[in-house]
Amino acid sequence: MPAFAEHKFGPKVEGHPSIGDLCPFCDVAFKAGDITTLVGLFPANTDEAESMFKGESFNMEGVEVHYGCAEEHGLTKEKEDDEIAAE
Ligand SMILES: [Zn+2]
Repeated sequence: MPAFAEHKFGPKVEGHPSIGDLCPFCDVAFKAGDITTLVGLFPANTDEAESMFKGESFNMEGVEVHYGCAEEHGLTKEKEDDEIAAE
């Protein structure tokens, strides 16, 4: 299942709604100035899951994490772009 960080968000501004939420990778709360990304972890709902099992496209629920944490876990796409293009 694809689970990757596609877009870089930030730096977060003061008053952003997700400030104070915990990053699931490092358990550190987001704060102003953080660069974050969304990692797709699972289908958004049962209908989407059904589409996934049928091999159709589906919407994934995005979880916000620090961009650096996504990189540490190998979830950023940038490094693999050459490989994908070569296929
Ligand atoms: Zn983190």
